[in-house]
This record gives sequence, structure tokens and C-alpha cells, in this order.
Amino acid sequence: MLPRLALALVLALASLTLMACEPAETDASPERSAVAADFGIVIHGGAGTILRENLTEELEGRYHEALRSALQAGYEVLDAGGSAMDAVVAAVVILEDEPLFNAGRGSVFTSEGTNELDAAVMDGRDLDAGAVAGVTTLRNPILLARLVMEESPHVLFTGEGAETFADQFDLERVGPEWFFTQERWDALERAREREEFTLGWHLEEDRMIGTVGAVARDRTGNLAAATSTGGMTNKRFGRVGDVPIIGAGTYASNASCAISATGHGEYFIRNVVAREICARMEHRGETLQEAADAVVMEQLLDHGGTGGVVGIDRDGHITMTLNTPGMYRGHFLAGGEPFTAIYADEGDGRP
Ligand code: ASP
Repeated sequence: MLPRLALALVLALASLTLMACEPAETDASPERSAVAADFGIVIHGGAGTILRENLTEELEGRYHEALRSALQAGYEVLDAGGSAMDAVVAAVVILEDEPLFNAGRGSVFTSEGTNELDAAVMDGRDLDAGAVAGVTTLRNPILLARLVMEESPHVLFTGEGAETFADQFDLERVGPEWFFTQERWDALERAREREEFTLGWHLEEDRMIGTVGAVARDRTGNLAAATSTGGMTNKRFGRVGDVPIIGAGTYASNASCAISATGHGEYFIRNVVAREICARMEHRGETLQEAADAVVMEQLLDHGGTGGVVGIDRDGHITMTLNTPGMYRGHFLAGGEPFTAIYADEGDGRP
């Protein structure tokens, strides 16, 4: 048995250590403002060199229509009192099934002529997250990412392991023909000729296509984020981008905001973009827009990183911030109308 004095010393030391570990009471979070939107969803379909001269009116129309369907699906969930997680997944499933985007069905090709898809979800309520990387047979990788979050104690499964995990569930599996689009195949051939490892949108002759993502706030004030991608054309050696890396391409915390990113993934990983935006809100007291501007328009650009983010904060403020000529994007907020845009100069539809 310990002598009394030694015991008292141990207890005193333990309580000092505990005090040192307690979080400092210096919450710099922005003052809670009146709720800007009781609930709402913001989505993107990829950022990059999207130029008016490269898109026909007919194609523009198809993009707007696809974005609207995804917004509508997410909004209906939220309007009916559904969760932010259900809403972002509903929107992303629609975008994954639309070959206009580089996710799910429209995914780009790897250097081997295969498709390796990445996806992630995060729930702002409890920081729960799920992700998959390099999956090849899932029609909707976002659904598998959600199952990783809900049905496993883990966060990220890759390649064969992810497919084995998927075997336990009744998820739709598809063959390579599901992902075949002539346009993506031609892009691969051109990238191979030039021995380029590149995002589709770096190729001048290719129409820019992009990753898809959604963020939402539900009626209970909970936030969620979801992102899905085919990655980069001609990618090699099991390359994984920012999308399934929690904090880089996808992040949600009810303490600040939910973010889904798109762009050159390596830069988004190195700058931990999604978490960095939320962290600036939490620790520096910045608004969502101030934080997104600092990270996307300054920090990322300073490092040569191009792309954009969509975000929604705990009070329903939103951001659609891009440092590229365009980003397929849209929002549908409670009490408002759906808004969709393609080019940077179209703004975010708010006064
Ligand atoms: N961020 C994606 C990646 O690097 C690509 C994109 O957003 O277009 O895999």
C-alpha cells in the first residue's frame, strides 16, 4: 500500500495533468448569427478550366438539368425532415449515375484502362466518417462509404478490401462496361500519347469534367458532407486523391461547417483544405466565407493548387468558392429557389 503522503502527491499530480489537458476556454468561434437558412443543400460537379467557348448551349443545359435533379433530390429529403446525411447521399447518387461528371458512371480511366473510384461521407454531429478508395465494381461508391461509416469500426477501406467489405451488403455491382464512355477513353489515349498524368481538365481539347460533392444542413441543425470521384485521367500505381482523405476533400463538424472539395487532389491533401476551412472558423472566429477565401483563394493558390469548394456552416450560411474559371455548382436553401451555375463570373446567386 502506498504511504498517505505519496498517494496525496500522486493524486495532486494527476489532477494537475487533467487540468492541463482540459481545453482552454478561448472559443474564438464566430458569434452565432441568426440562422441564414433553416435547412439547405449545396453541391458541385467539379472545378477547373470550364470555358464558355468549350461548352455548347445544349451541353450547358444538360449540366444545369443534372445539377437541378441532384439539388431537388437532396432538398426533398431535408424538406421532409430527413437528415443532412440522407440528403447529401441522395444528391451524390444522382450525380454518380450521370455520365457528365467524373464520378460513378462517368469516371475517368487509369493508365491501365480501368476505373478506380474514391468516395467519402462525414457526419458533423459526431465526426463519424466513412470512405473508400480505388473501388472498381460499385455503381455508387458513396453508398459503400456510408456503410463503412455505419457498419464498420473503421474509416477508410481501399481496393480489394473495400470490395470484400461490399460483398456483405446488397449494393449494386457493375462490370467495366458500366463505366465506359468514349469521351473518357479518348481522353486517356491522348494523355497516354503525351505520357501525362493529369486531371482531364488540364487537357485543352477535353471538356472539363469533375468530381461531385454535396454538403447540407438539416432542420435539426446537423451538417453532413459527401464527395465522390473517378480521380485523374491516366493515374497510376493505385493513386488516391483528396476525396476519401477525411479533412482534405471532405469534412463536416457541427462546431463549424461542412465542406466538399474539387480540384487537383495532391494540393488539397497537402493543404488539408476542408478541415483547414472549418478550423479557421473554430479557432480564429472567421466566417465561412472568410475562411474559404483564405484557404482557396490565397493558401491553395500560393502553393499552385487549383480547384474549389462548396460549404455550409452551422447557421446555414453557404459558400461556393473557386479559383478556377468554372465549377459546376448549385444550391437549394429553405424558402428559396434552386440556383445552378457553371462559370466563375456567375457568382453564387446571392445578392
Ligand atoms: N480532387 C479529385 C482528385 O484529385 C479530382 C477533381 O476534383 O476533379 O482525385
